[in-house]
Amino acid sequence: MLSTLPPNTDTVLDWDWGMYKPYFDELLNASLTEETVFDWLKGWSRLISLAIEAGSRMHVAHTIDTNDAMAEQRFHFFIQEVRPEIERADNELNKRFLASGLEPQGFEMALKAMRADDENFAEENLPLLAEEATLELRYNKIMSEQTIEWEGEERTLWQIGKVSQNPDRALREKAWRMASDRMLQDREAVNENYVKLLDLRQRIARNAGLPDYRAYIWNEKRRFDYSPEDCVTFQNAIEEVVVPAAGRLYEKTRAALGVETLRPWDINTNPINNVDQAVDPFGRPPLAPFADGSDLAKKAQQVLTQVDRDFGDYLKTMIDEGLLDLDNRKGKAPGGYCTSFPVRKRPFIFMNAVGIHQNVVTMLHEAGHAFHAFEASTIPYHLQRRAPMEFNEVASMAMELLSAPYWQKEHGGYYDELDYVRARTEHLQRIIMFWPYMAVVDAFQHWVYSNVEVASDPANLDAKWGELWDRFMPHVDWTDLEVHKVTGWHRKQHIHRAPFYYVEYGMAQLGAVQVWANALKDQEAAVAAYRSALEIGGREPLPKLFEAAGARFAFDTDILKMAVDLIEETLTSLNAKMN
Ligand SMILES: [Zn+2]
Repeated sequence: MLSTLPPNTDTVLDWDWGMYKPYFDELLNASLTEETVFDWLKGWSRLISLAIEAGSRMHVAHTIDTNDAMAEQRFHFFIQEVRPEIERADNELNKRFLASGLEPQGFEMALKAMRADDENFAEENLPLLAEEATLELRYNKIMSEQTIEWEGEERTLWQIGKVSQNPDRALREKAWRMASDRMLQDREAVNENYVKLLDLRQRIARNAGLPDYRAYIWNEKRRFDYSPEDCVTFQNAIEEVVVPAAGRLYEKTRAALGVETLRPWDINTNPINNVDQAVDPFGRPPLAPFADGSDLAKKAQQVLTQVDRDFGDYLKTMIDEGLLDLDNRKGKAPGGYCTSFPVRKRPFIFMNAVGIHQNVVTMLHEAGHAFHAFEASTIPYHLQRRAPMEFNEVASMAMELLSAPYWQKEHGGYYDELDYVRARTEHLQRIIMFWPYMAVVDAFQHWVYSNVEVASDPANLDAKWGELWDRFMPHVDWTDLEVHKVTGWHRKQHIHRAPFYYVEYGMAQLGAVQVWANALKDQEAAVAAYRSALEIGGREPLPKLFEAAGARFAFDTDILKMAVDLIEETLTSLNAKMN
């Protein structure tokens, strides 16, 4: 039966569950012994790769044209009717593999993940997990329905965020205050929703026989190589090393703006993003690095060729094979992503480019994810392919930094000398400013899930957020804005919808800076190490992946200091070019 699997996903796009089922049944009932295990795993990989690629293709088709009714219907049918069945059957195969007691070489990580899933699984949690998903959606709905009237038109708070780049300070303040006041109208509703989530998550952990929800999440997110204590170490190191560095950057912004103190609308008018360097302190118009998507891609290819010839070739392949959809246009879904087609062994990049600097960063970031897919595409078994999040983002964030020295026009890139300095300055400052904010989001959740009873009183949640904000983000003046400050946790969707998922970015950023530091000494060797790490896929634990990439998986003051010093030195030398 498995031998009749189609060679590509063209026909699979139309399969209902009934078409998949016989193949899963065959695997479930096939003999599984030391002699047959690799064939069995190969069959499973072929089947699941077809399902993944079919799902990715349907997702792409829907997001590149949300008005295509056929594509929408097909994708919705897949996620509602087909995918849940595939997941259930896939889970049965996991169990079968685990129960076989076989431990073939190269599958240590996969088996460890399966055991963690097994430990977390509890039948009585199924309705609770559905309830949790409903509450998460309710948070989404509350936030997405917040609008204000601006210039005579109803605008979402996301749209209002654009005003944050306006050089007119009074206008920025007005927009910030209106948006923040609007959010406060839902204060009770968000509080109530979160307290319900806390209770639910506590029960989910208990049903799984775990002491608390944090332990549950540690299993769920396969955090085998670091502990909650390591996260605390990271937070403390950020406080010691990064917070003062961020202070130096904020002080420069304050001086350039010529204001007495920095107010929230000077740095982050966008109420949805708590931290963003939005205003250009010199009042310059936005950078305009490229004309359209094909120009963006062509320049990216030239820039990436300077990092490694193969990277340029990978991107060329993507251009030639139509694996990029970059331009913003009507009917396209928002955001950006990189997905993969495991049967074709190709990635696909989707984004909404409108000609701004941030699009350049996104393009190079997603290219890093795409190269990860290229490098790992020869791994024969799907169970070995998936690298942990903490490392996936090293692949992408390192590509931003590795390519940065070539962003200039003279290298086929985007900027003349002055704009290059400005683009790199923005990019590097953002890294410094992110870590303290990440520390607030992470520390807040460690406190919440270790003190659920106390945390179930929203007044205590506010107080804790305010305390952490003062500790990590002391450089902005929130006088008379206390209520907006302490409810900042309402704005961070991860806290509500993806608990504990955030520190990954901070860890990956630290890995990426190390890869970049190596490249400054010897680019060829650094890129070779980086590539060899991408090639491993998910076959090694995190510390090994970092090590292969030439980085240390650590979060102490030493390593952060190295990173922050390098960024500050680079900023200084870029700045010197301006004068
Ligand atoms: Zn990413």
